[in-house]
Amino acid sequence: MNDNIEIEFPLLQDVVYLDHAAATLYARRQLDSYMQDISNHIYGNPHSRSQSSQLTSEVVENVRERILNHFGTSSEYHSVIFTANSTGAIKLVAETFQWNRLINENRRYENDGLNSNKGILYYLEDSHTSVVGMREYALKHGADFNCISERAVLNSIENLPQVSEHDETELPNCLFAYPAQSNFSGRKFPLNWANNLKRNEISCFVGRCGRWCVLLDAASYVMTSKLDLSLCNADFVPMSFYKMFGFPTGIGALIISNESASFLRKTFFGGGTVQAYSSTEHFHVPKVNIHEWFEDGTLPFLDIIALRHGFDTLQGLAGGMHQISHHTFALAKYVHHELASYCHSNSKPVAKLYHENNFEDINIQGAIVNFNIIKDNGDYVGYSEVDKLANLYSIQLRTGCFCNTGACQKFLGLTSDKVKKNFEAGHKCGDDKDLIDGQPTGSVRISFGYMSSWKDAKRFLQFIRECFMSTNPEPCETRLRQYAEPVETRTNLFLYKMFLYPVKSCGAMEVKEWNIGSRGFLFDREWMIVNENGVALTQKRTTNLCCIKPNINLKENTLILNAKGKTPMTVPLECDVPSSSQSLCQSRVCMHRVQGIDCGQEVSDWLTDVLGQRCRLIKKNNQYKRLTKLNGEAVEVSFANESQFLLLNKASLDHLLECIQQRDHIIGVKKDDIDCQMDLNNLIGRFRANFVFASQEAFQEDNWKEVYINDLKFNVVGPCTRCQMVCVDQETGARGKEPLQILSKLRGKRMSFGVYLHLASQELNGKLSTSDSVRVVHNEIDESS
Ligand SMILES: *Cc1c(COP(=O)(O)O)cnc(C)c1O
Repeated sequence: MNDNIEIEFPLLQDVVYLDHAAATLYARRQLDSYMQDISNHIYGNPHSRSQSSQLTSEVVENVRERILNHFGTSSEYHSVIFTANSTGAIKLVAETFQWNRLINENRRYENDGLNSNKGILYYLEDSHTSVVGMREYALKHGADFNCISERAVLNSIENLPQVSEHDETELPNCLFAYPAQSNFSGRKFPLNWANNLKRNEISCFVGRCGRWCVLLDAASYVMTSKLDLSLCNADFVPMSFYKMFGFPTGIGALIISNESASFLRKTFFGGGTVQAYSSTEHFHVPKVNIHEWFEDGTLPFLDIIALRHGFDTLQGLAGGMHQISHHTFALAKYVHHELASYCHSNSKPVAKLYHENNFEDINIQGAIVNFNIIKDNGDYVGYSEVDKLANLYSIQLRTGCFCNTGACQKFLGLTSDKVKKNFEAGHKCGDDKDLIDGQPTGSVRISFGYMSSWKDAKRFLQFIRECFMSTNPEPCETRLRQYAEPVETRTNLFLYKMFLYPVKSCGAMEVKEWNIGSRGFLFDREWMIVNENGVALTQKRTTNLCCIKPNINLKENTLILNAKGKTPMTVPLECDVPSSSQSLCQSRVCMHRVQGIDCGQEVSDWLTDVLGQRCRLIKKNNQYKRLTKLNGEAVEVSFANESQFLLLNKASLDHLLECIQQRDHIIGVKKDDIDCQMDLNNLIGRFRANFVFASQEAFQEDNWKEVYINDLKFNVVGPCTRCQMVCVDQETGARGKEPLQILSKLRGKRMSFGVYLHLASQELNGKLSTSDSVRVVHNEIDESS
């Protein structure tokens, strides 16, 4: 689009960001000019009378005018009410709308069964959660609600019946809410619906007569399209600015037609909203200006000032809304057409696309592509799997239902009953239960912003081809099935290797014998590294953590940290008693709160030097037990993510390695050099197990119920599902695409590899050795199947 884009968005060199519909990105110059602005002026609280305060007021008023200007109108016709986001704007309308005010104020509505006298909220099926939530206020005020389809709107809106004068006085206020653009599919809905509905003071819309107002949810539309309010008669228009230019967050607006303010009746009055009030008597007079009455308390004035720099960026860097809409639409259209044309070798389609138009017309379609992937046998690939694999390609996209259950229901054919059933089956908004009984519970969405490039679109399509398009109808899955057949196995089982990982996410320490403690191997994941904000570092973001190799010297009672080219760092094993020099540190492991003890400045400096970012070492505070529940029973764990032990089967590793070496053949793409260099030890390193058993068949471990090492008993508590962490080469920190890509081919959905164990024996302090005898107990194989 523009050479400046590369300079303005340096991070996009490495990342394909395709989630602009959730939040778009901000340009470097946008931040620079904003920083200049607020560094060079004193902006005071606009409620004061000082010079700095007047400066703020003036700038804020200018920004309001700038916003209205951007939307083709001015303060003569519209007002800007600042809110936290679109949701805040929608909620403001829901709370204050005069649902049941009759046109004749003297004839108050009574609940006498005359339904036609009730107010109503209609919302389009394809509405955002925040719009659907309005119905709770409608109901609270005695109005009805109805979710209506596009067809029902179209059938009614072209020929709205006339209302006789006699009826008018009996009719209530009604509200129709619809998105200018679906945040699910990018479909743009007609802006003139609002005009038709507002043409007469009284309209009878889908059988309901009343004074109709329109809430046009513009949050998705204004990201990449020009909204001209001089051509659209909507009363209430909510939006969020971070969706337009990325920064700042936490600020949105309700643009309200000046005439429509009378439909809203506010109850609360906060700072800055009244002309006068008495604190001893029930007396207050609202300010006259619409926005002054509706904006309670101090505005986020620095954020409002930042908006100006956002609008400048849209105009200057991005070349204006016309150019933005055409550029982003062209990208979406290209991806849509390519995706629609992709077939497996058996000519079955690769993607099911969720669109009702063919991307021919920029007036009815925006820069969003929504789909699910289908295998050559017709089965769906769950969206979580697509998400995980996209990570390998540094592609960031959005999956699930996008806070738009209505669109999800429509496109995926989910009835209300099915939605409830899925919830009972454990599926919640935002989780990764992507398939239930083989049917998708959500989908995959990609969306473009003005800084998106053709390179992004092509890298996305390459990802789809490499990961999901079958070129060879006989992958090694067929061999896998032979392995998976139940076989009587009592043969050659032994303990091949043992590892612990004293510092979470750092290198492994291989041991021949080691002690068991109450929460796993002694000193396994007893330490972790946190950044300045106390956030745990993991290899997901900080891949070079693996280059730190911890070693425990039991004789000296020390933990030694090694890194290439650095003098080793020694810290004592015990620092359990917090003293004044050792502070406690709160952090999180997998969202759970944990507490650690800071190990001091010296090691912090050493780590900062090695990792190139400020960080500290913390040791688990043993006064706080961390419990985890896998398979019901709660057990104590260290800083490990989920369980006490992880076990791998060498036969599965061998099989996986073989598949990686035949990768060309299986998925029809060239190996990356980095993935070629994998050998067994390298592969073992990536899966970060505590035990590697050698058994005879691959994936036997899936069927193990109990494991005994000598006489110590362990329960198998479930499979370990894998993510992009296994693609980090533990020797170099380099990131490739394997073994995750092959794992998804071999193991499907959850990409599980290895199983978790919990210690079942009460007896602690057992010492394990690789020469110990081992045996396993299998799950009963169901004979009938
Ligand atoms: C994003 C979005 C919203 C909600 O925006 P928030 O900033 O989360 O309040 C509402 N409607 C549509 C169509 C959206 O795309």
